[in-house]
Amino acid sequence: MDCTKVKETLFLFFDNEMDQTDQSQFEKHLSDCPQCARRMRYTRQLLILVRRSCGRQAAPTALRLRIVTRLRLGRGAQTLH
Ligand SMILES: [Zn+2]
Repeated sequence: MDCTKVKETLFLFFDNEMDQTDQSQFEKHLSDCPQCARRMRYTRQLLILVRRSCGRQAAPTALRLRIVTRLRLGRGAQTLH
């Protein structure tokens, strides 16, 4: 599994929708790749924030998060507000 694949499947991991094989490859990649490990931690934080701020309403959390992250990644990593 490479960084691109990890990025694409990150949300499956958080949604517990990843299959076992992918998940073990995913976790192996994280332990080898500080960049993805950091993204993972960051995404987890974001997920917590999103859940806290929007409760149970509206878009499913994973979808919201996917949108937010895509916007943010599109502008680079420095757009934390
Ligand atoms: Zn990576």
